[in-house]
Amino acid sequence: MPRIFSGIQPSGELHIGNWLGAVQNWVNLQRSYESLICIVDLHAITSKYDKDTLAQRTRDMAIGLLAAGIDPELATLFVQSHVPQHSELQWLLNSVTPLGELERMTQFKDKSQKFESVPAGLLNYPVLMAADILLYRADLVPVGEDQVQHLELTREIARKWNAEFGRGDDFFPEPQPILTEAKRITGLDGQAKMSKSLGNTIGLLDTPDEIWHKLRPAKTDPARVTRKDPGNPEICNIYHLHKYFSRLETVALVAENCRGAKWGCLDCKRVLADNMIATLSPIRERALQLQVDPDRVDEILADGATAARRRASETMREVRDRMGFLPARGKPAALDGVW
Ligand code: SF4
Repeated sequence: MPRIFSGIQPSGELHIGNWLGAVQNWVNLQRSYESLICIVDLHAITSKYDKDTLAQRTRDMAIGLLAAGIDPELATLFVQSHVPQHSELQWLLNSVTPLGELERMTQFKDKSQKFESVPAGLLNYPVLMAADILLYRADLVPVGEDQVQHLELTREIARKWNAEFGRGDDFFPEPQPILTEAKRITGLDGQAKMSKSLGNTIGLLDTPDEIWHKLRPAKTDPARVTRKDPGNPEICNIYHLHKYFSRLETVALVAENCRGAKWGCLDCKRVLADNMIATLSPIRERALQLQVDPDRVDEILADGATAARRRASETMREVRDRMGFLPARGKPAALDGVW
């Protein structure tokens, strides 16, 4: 069965943007592929972050993923820092990664603008991503458009490492992207991609009141100043959100009512809110059950990490050997990553 690696930062609660754009896809893929789903907390520290809430945000992300349908019986769900081989492999891959390629990464160029003194971790972020994927010798990686360049670098790193240390074989497969239907969910400001840092999201676990409170002031077609002004649904994010939460006939009605000024934007948003609440309620209920049982969540993550470490330590034994390191004898099991 082909193997997939997916990563998500521990930003706390999932929002509908990352649920529609990524997590729904993972839930479907876990039935057809061997799936590793990793909460990438080591990536999270490459930008400014709050250490006091990192652990809780990591657990909350796990709760969101489980509530959204990630099934620990089907997929391996784990936390990146619980598998130390990620960091080890990153260090080893640094030796074959061209500095110029890292400096050329679009995300590095964008994010480094925000720092007076750029942390090296930000530059090396794509090497850690390469390590995440290659550690499990994953065949496929579901990626959003913003990660395509990083995946291409992963493929280059794999090629370089294979050329240098391969034994006539491609030990690291070059991972292929899974480019599914591109869902770029726009935030409630109607402008930027939905993102927690921009405060333009609806949380996957928001209450019905919270959903309505956030949808009410959301941007719509500015031409609809009053109920009597016709609008263009194509340029309105509320209309596009209807496509994910409302039935086809409702979507058609929204377009008709908008173009014909047959209802106001608040009517339109109320219908969206009701459909969104109906869709998200079962997820919220599952999350509430998990929130009162954090031990169960930690147990699932511990089982996932054990399974991930087993695969990671097999890869690392081979990598260390091929790179010429002296094997450690009598090494405690803990250091071999099988604890
Ligand atoms: S009626 Fe609906 S689709 Fe049209 S502008 Fe208002 S919120 Fe948007």
